[in-house]
Amino acid sequence: MDSFDLKGKAALVTGGNGGIGLAMARALAQAGAAVAIAGRDRAKNAAAAAELKAVSICCDLSQADACRAMVDEAAERLGRLDILVNNAGTNIRKAPQDYSLEEWRAVLDTNLTSAFVACQAAYPHMKRAAGGKIINIGSMMSLFGASFAAPYGASKGGVVQLTRSLSAAWAKDNIQVNAVLPGWIDTALTRRAREEVAGLHERVLARTPAGRWGTPEDLGGIAVFLASAASNFVTGAAIPVDGGYASLG
Ligand code: NDP
Repeated sequence: MDSFDLKGKAALVTGGNGGIGLAMARALAQAGAAVAIAGRDRAKNAAAAAELKAVSICCDLSQADACRAMVDEAAERLGRLDILVNNAGTNIRKAPQDYSLEEWRAVLDTNLTSAFVACQAAYPHMKRAAGGKIINIGSMMSLFGASFAAPYGASKGGVVQLTRSLSAAWAKDNIQVNAVLPGWIDTALTRRAREEVAGLHERVLARTPAGRWGTPEDLGGIAVFLASAASNFVTGAAIPVDGGYASLG
């Protein structure tokens, strides 16, 4: 199992203070990586950092300058940067005709632009380390539309195309860039979705072949795989972790 070992590696997980990000950060730490987590909420950051013995960075990733500063701070405090997980995300649910431009931009800035800016900022650190691993978090809405999530779907489709472009550009630098597409996972984000979208809980259960909602821990294994030498020839992929949801088309 040596190729899965992350000892000596340093990882930054955005949105690593809760939900899927925390579970991924925990798995990376268990595999031996030194971890930094980033989020806005100081209390959530402090709790996650204490549990994982991680570096905590408080920042609002909808601001490009904050994204760049976060990456440089993580690299400085961890001494290097080998792994970047662009996981922070948000959603505003309403009919497409009802979004303001500010709402559209808030979702795109948080979900897509922050990932691009963080990747740009991580590039020189990874180049210096002679390689790196970038994991971008997409969604089933990278593949399918949703009547109540136009900007979210646009951002998550963009995450996959961004992943493919970066993977093509940076393969020669030994930087692998992949996307993970979670199915419906039980987190704060989707608890709110279930309150706002009538019948969502039942529709997800009926449509997911595994017959259950995912847990954040279901994403731990793919994080370690894509962060480790075990995936050195995997790049530009968009991998569903969804209990079979996407296989139904
Ligand atoms: P949570 O709401 O539980 O977590 C979201 C995380 O993102 C939090 O840590 C939050 O930290 C952080 N975050 C949000 N906005 C910002 C911001 N502006 N600046 C810094 N940090 C921010 O959601 P999930 O764990 O469910 O979602 C994680 C990722 O997985 C998202 O990209 C989401 O789109 C994606 N996803 C989730 C699915 C699901 O079913 N749950 C399905 C498919 C994709 P803080 O609160 O401190 O700002």
